[in-house]
Amino acid sequence: MSANLAEEASDGSEESEPETALETAKRQLARASAHVDIDPNVAERLEHPMKVHEVSVPLRRDDGSVEVITGYRAQHDSVRGPYKGGLRYHPEVGRDECVGLAMWMTWKCAVMNLPFGGAKGGIVVDPKKLSTAEKERLTRRFTQEIRSAIGPTKDIPAPDMGTDPQTMAWLMDAYSMQEDETIPGVVTGKPPAIGGSYGREEAPGRSVAIVTREVCDYYDRPLDETTVAVQGFGSVGANAARLLHEWGAKIVAVSDVNGARYDAAGIDVEKIPSHDTEPEAVTAATGVGTKISNEELLELDVDVLIPAAVGNVLTEENAADVRADLIVEGANGPTTFAADAIFQERDIPVIPDILANAGGVTVSYYEWLQGVNRRQWSLERVHEELDEDMIAAWESVKAEVNGGDLSWRDAAYVVALKRVAEAHEARGIWP
Ligand code: NAD
Repeated sequence: MSANLAEEASDGSEESEPETALETAKRQLARASAHVDIDPNVAERLEHPMKVHEVSVPLRRDDGSVEVITGYRAQHDSVRGPYKGGLRYHPEVGRDECVGLAMWMTWKCAVMNLPFGGAKGGIVVDPKKLSTAEKERLTRRFTQEIRSAIGPTKDIPAPDMGTDPQTMAWLMDAYSMQEDETIPGVVTGKPPAIGGSYGREEAPGRSVAIVTREVCDYYDRPLDETTVAVQGFGSVGANAARLLHEWGAKIVAVSDVNGARYDAAGIDVEKIPSHDTEPEAVTAATGVGTKISNEELLELDVDVLIPAAVGNVLTEENAADVRADLIVEGANGPTTFAADAIFQERDIPVIPDILANAGGVTVSYYEWLQGVNRRQWSLERVHEELDEDMIAAWESVKAEVNGGDLSWRDAAYVVALKRVAEAHEARGIWP
């Protein structure tokens, strides 16, 4: 499994080895179920996806040959609303992985109290080996193959690994052409010219910053006396670092894939371009602090550590050496199950990914609302609504932490499962 594919599969494992996304998802469900008074029939229902679509997609290559490629769309649960989740193009995409990640989306949407269920899809292809024209043809034909399964009230894909706003634009266009009307609500993460939301790109980083602000407040740490180390200076890491810097925190270290820069006096993060404009700008930024390794960054003596690059970076091997007082997960699955247990033993709170980086799917919800209502929100409105929704989710999780002997991660899953289970119990299972 690649680091990225493993990233969402890390926090339920009993071993230090990454397990599959489906195993992780089932363990998370079992863990949360132990803390929730849930009807066993509902728990049984939630262990299984509602539907998994497997399609074969003929792709005409630029040389004229045709290759048939497999694609999936796994739909885990829609009791609270249409399925929602990313669409990834990656050579290691598989059925079980899509099911596991779809389950994970169910919990992420539920912890945010969004009226969506969980889905995930993908095509088994290396996007780097496709020309732009091939990627477009593949996306359009895949859309046609899954057309009956998706739609603004059924299942709404979004970008994920190997896909981007352009991919979503092709998907929306292919779907709209077949339906004979423009239907922006069928996807999120579109370019703003066709109904994409302002603030969508920065949203996961923004939610990480909001949650960091709240957790600092919870543990009585004034933000302007807080030091922060951020691993990864991409969409999530750079946006979180810049906002926290703006709000008065001292960002003492940031990194890219090649290494990190550290300055105990603080780094002016506005001066470093983020990954999308210049991929290795952190290590190229000579004159900014001293160069240290990514491993050293994770072990810095800081108030807050934000791993925001890839999965499985906090492991059994380094968890005992982590000196941060708080960890806020920016990336998906940066903490392995074994590391999580060590942090719990060491009383280091870990704010889980499903809460901290959920700003992305939340602004996707706003984009869907804007598409369905044919109305564009201002950036200010997106920020205000996101702040409000993040605080509401934070308060729900905090209430579970305060009310029982739960870690922040378990509390987030309990909030999500309670909401999903309650909806199932109200609607009933039709056996
Ligand atoms: P990105 O590609 O924009 O940036 C990634 C950053 O991490 C870059 O600075 C890169 O140099 C660095 N990096 C890559 N590999 C690394 C490694 N092995 N060690 C240290 N640094 C490394 O990515 P992103 O969109 O910011 O996503 C980061 C994480 O957040 C991923 O786990 C992703 O799944 C998760 N996430 C992203 C979004 C989103 O919408 N962008 C939403 C939720 C979660």
